[in-house]
Amino acid sequence: MTQKLIIFVGPPGAGKGTQAERYTDHKSLAHISTGVMLRAHVERRTDLGIIAKEFLDKGELVSDELVISMLRERLIEEDASNGAILDGFPRTIPQAQSLNNLHNSSEIVAVVVFKVEEKTLIQRMLERGRSDDTEEAIKQRFEVYKKDSEPLIAFYKEKNIININGEGEEEEIFDELADKLSLFV
Ligand code: AMP
Repeated sequence: MTQKLIIFVGPPGAGKGTQAERYTDHKSLAHISTGVMLRAHVERRTDLGIIAKEFLDKGELVSDELVISMLRERLIEEDASNGAILDGFPRTIPQAQSLNNLHNSSEIVAVVVFKVEEKTLIQRMLERGRSDDTEEAIKQRFEVYKKDSEPLIAFYKEKNIININGEGEEEEIFDELADKLSLFV
């Protein structure tokens, strides 16, 4: 059976996590967020968490090597056998390349790109108030997104790209997403 992967790309605060959660709720797909996984490691003070903490706090990326091995193990868990939404992975071109070589039975069926204005993003993040939602870390995460993650859109240009207007209400965004994504999974 093919493992169907859907990649969510978008700046911090775009609503990727919220929408991924909603979409996977009524499908047999896992919601895999590398950010959530890393924060759980930080919380539990695992070896990985201790290394990751300072990167998260500063709004910088954790090394490709660490995130790739974490994801590789997550993808072979039972709940992801049919497929998964990858929320926050890949974040760099090397991560994207590693995904191509991970499992030969997996297929990237769609790449969802969230477009949101910077001022909406800042407002959302400040309301959310996560520990890495400080002004400094937010600024850094935007820069990292532009430099390292935005090039993924061009990298995936041969794939099924779904553009989502991430402005507006959660409900409305979900309707657009469900409408477009259900053609693929
Ligand atoms: P997120 O919850 O997706 O906003 O991620 C929060 C933080 O976790 C990021 O600012 C990074 O420090 C780290 N992180 C999450 N996913 C990745 C990834 N794929 N590669 C490197 N660092 C990541």
